[in-house]
Amino acid sequence: MKTSLLSSTKDPMGTAIADYYKQGKAAKLRVFSSQFEEDEIPVAQLFRSYEQMPPLEQKALQLAQGKILDCGAGSGCHALALQAMGKEVQAIDISPLSVETMRLRGVKQAYQVNLFDENYVEQFDTILLLMNGSGIIGKLANMSAFFNKMKQLLTPDGCIYMDSSDLRYLFEDEDGSFLIDLADDYYGEIDFQMQYKQIKGEPFDWLYIDFQTLSLYAAQNGFTAELIQEGEHYDYLARLKR
Ligand code: SAH
Repeated sequence: MKTSLLSSTKDPMGTAIADYYKQGKAAKLRVFSSQFEEDEIPVAQLFRSYEQMPPLEQKALQLAQGKILDCGAGSGCHALALQAMGKEVQAIDISPLSVETMRLRGVKQAYQVNLFDENYVEQFDTILLLMNGSGIIGKLANMSAFFNKMKQLLTPDGCIYMDSSDLRYLFEDEDGSFLIDLADDYYGEIDFQMQYKQIKGEPFDWLYIDFQTLSLYAAQNGFTAELIQEGEHYDYLARLKR
C-alpha cells in the first residue's frame, strides 16, 4: 500500500486543476493505461457544481452527516458543496497543487495527506470516496488494509459512501455473454498514468469494483455493504458500515 504524497513537479492532475482555477481553462489532461486506448479527463468536470453532479454524487452529499471526510478531494467540488449545505468537512488529497487550489477556493480544512498514512488518525462520522472512489484502494489485495484504515477513521456508528463501476461491460460480447478469464487478475484492476503538458505522473493502480465483489470483501472485514442507488451505466453508490 503506497503511503506517499505527490511532488509538485510530478502532479499532472493538480497542475491542470491549478491552471483551470487561475486561468479559467486548461490544456489536455491525458490518461494512459496498458489496458485501454489513450483517453482524456475534461478538467472543467473536476470543477462541477452540485447541480452538475451526477445523481449518485448528489445523493452521497445529502446523506453525509456529522464530521465528514472527503477523501481524494481533487479541486474540492464536493467539499465546497458540503460547506454550502452548512456541513463540516475535511478534504484530503496527495496532490499538492489540488490542496493549494482547494484552499484558494475556500475549502476550510484542506490537507495534503495520503489516506493510508498511519499517522493520519482522526474520527469521522462520514467518509466520502467519490468519482469512482473505490479507485484509491488500487487493487483487491489492498482491501483489508483499506477496511482497517476505515476502522481507524470511522466513529463506531460512522459510514462510508463510495461510488464505483462494474467494468464487466468492457468484456461483454455482442450476444450479452460474458467472457472473463478467472485465472487473470480481477477485471476491475486498472493501471493509469496521467500527463498534463510536459508533466508526466507516476503510474498508479485504480480499482473499479462490482457491488457483489465489494460486498464479499466488506463481509470478510466486518463491514456490510448496502446498495444505495444505481447510475445509468453500471455505476452505483454503496454505503459501507460496521
Ligand atoms: N473526488 C474528486 C477527485 C477525483 S480524482 C472529484 O470527484 O472530482 C481522485 C483524487 O484522489 C486525485 O485528486 C488524487 O490525487 C487523489 N488520491 C489518490 N490516491 C490518494 C490517497 N491514497 N490518499 C488521498 N488522495 C488520493
